[in-house]
Amino acid sequence: MKSIKLKKPCVDSESKKLREENKRLKELTSLKTDLVSISAHQIRTSLSALKWIIKMFLDGDIGKITTEQETLLRKAFERNERVINIVSELLLANKTENVEEKQYIFAKLNIVETIESAIFDFSGEARSQDIEIIFLKSDNHEPFVKADKEKIRVVFQNLLENAIKYSHPHSKIFILLKEGKTEVEISVKDTGIGISAAGQKKIFEKFYRDPAAQKKEVVGSGIGLFTCKKIVERHSGKLWFESKENEGTTFFFTVPIYKGSK
Ligand code: ADP
Repeated sequence: MKSIKLKKPCVDSESKKLREENKRLKELTSLKTDLVSISAHQIRTSLSALKWIIKMFLDGDIGKITTEQETLLRKAFERNERVINIVSELLLANKTENVEEKQYIFAKLNIVETIESAIFDFSGEARSQDIEIIFLKSDNHEPFVKADKEKIRVVFQNLLENAIKYSHPHSKIFILLKEGKTEVEISVKDTGIGISAAGQKKIFEKFYRDPAAQKKEVVGSGIGLFTCKKIVERHSGKLWFESKENEGTTFFFTVPIYKGSK
């Protein structure tokens, strides 16, 4: 009987080609994500500037305006707010993609500077609701952590933004930085709406929003905390919270101390 020799499939070159295509696709996706991020940030910055200009007119800082002018300006303000929220959501969704796809660059980071600059970014938003942000830290020492600067900033920003969003007007938010032997613990405490007992089990699930938050009618997507948890865990840290409905919430996270160029 004649034996038939099967041709050996060219598995190696096929998988090499697939790997290269995959790499190229990842690079293209990363470029697109960066482009969306940069454009969205520029749009949001311009819209925020516009928001404060309209607000100055509405508050009478530029002079007296007529009722008709006020009605039109109020409409412009509200439309502008809506677009700012849409762009913010776009940024967050884009960031989630980033977090799962992108590389982490761990380096020495002054966490106090990161926190202070994020507080500064949100100070206008807090002031507009008469919310005071109080940062408590040791005066004489600024610890360095080992972290990816941009991603840790995303975590802190999300927690602070939530604390403002879910607080009542005329309240206070406390940010506390505690330095341990191996890690730094940062907490963000508010006295806002809190999270329901049932919701506390689901809060880190993608797209979950607590009924208490939905009632408050603030814009949200339920991806912020999901993203934060992923980022903190990639830093070998922990993210957790304590909350009581109608009393307030404190979120905590840890980041490792920088111990040299390892
Ligand atoms: P978003 O705020 O965009 O809805 P997040 O993932 O950041 O999404 O938060 C998920 C849910 O967790 C929120 O919808 C809200 O129900 C709850 N939550 C988060 N932070 C707070 C907070 N500080 N106070 C009360 N509820 C909160």
